[in-house]
Parts: sequence; structure tokens; C-alpha cells
Amino acid sequence: MPSQRDTCLFCDIVRAGAYVNKAKGFVAINDINPQAKVHLLIIPERHVDTFRDVSDFPAKESKRMLDFVAETAREVGLTDYRVVVNVGPSAGQTVFHLHWHVLGGDEMSERLPAGAATAEAEL
Ligand code: AMP
Ligand code: ZN
Repeated sequence: MPSQRDTCLFCDIVRAGAYVNKAKGFVAINDINPQAKVHLLIIPERHVDTFRDVSDFPAKESKRMLDFVAETAREVGLTDYRVVVNVGPSAGQTVFHLHWHVLGGDEMSERLPAGAATAEAEL
């Protein structure tokens, strides 16, 4: 029987190796359908379906994941930005491997989060 890792888009992306940034256990890529001038996805190598299961991460790994979100934003030159996690289909989650959206690079105060912006565009 195939494992989740065999059938998951983001597990494939982690294996493929084209990153904006990388640390042990985590990668950052550009979102294929950006909702802001800079739109990165921070993806842990460990497969968990959603943020709901974040407690599957050992405490140190959770801390390093948050550090990597902030470090990646800093490395691409962002000081002000939005971090979004869509949790479940009704909240806009479409890929069921935990990931953090980092949106920035232009004025963010009037913008909706990524999932909400996409949903509104489809109305
Ligand atoms: P979410 O809707 O929160 O699950 O976020 C999934 C994100 O993955 C969306 O913003 C998509 O644009 C993005 N995405 C889907 N396929 C790819 C891909 N092959 N490479 C980069 N980003 C992708
Ligand atoms: Zn996965």
C-alpha cells in the first residue's frame, strides 16, 4: 500500500530539491499561484496532514520550524509580512501536508489572507 509520502505533492516537492531556502527538516519554495509580490510556502519534510496535528512534531522541531519561517522571511528581505496557515478545506486548505504561507513585498494591511483572497476571486 502506498504511504502518504508516495502520494503527496509537497512530499514530492521536498524530494525534488528546488528550494528558495532550506534548513534541516524544512524547505521554502515560491507559491505557484502567488497572492502577493512575495508568496513563499514553508514546508516541513515531516508529513503531517494539517496544523491540527502540529503536536506530532517534537517540541524542538516545532521551535525550529517557527525559526525557519522567520529566518526565511528575513533572508528574502521581508520585514513586514503575513504568515497564514489554512486548516481544513472550509478554511481554504487544498494541499494536505502542513505548510505556512509567507506573504509580503507590498502593502498588506488591506489584503485578505491567501485562502480568503482565492475564495473571493472565485465568487
Ligand atoms: P493551501 O490552499 O493553504 O493548502 O495552500 C496550497 C498552496 O500550494 C496554494 O497557494 C497553491 O498555489 C500552492 N501550490 C500548489 N501546487 C504547487 C506547486 N506545484 N508548487 C508551488 N506551490 C503550489
Ligand atoms: Zn506530504
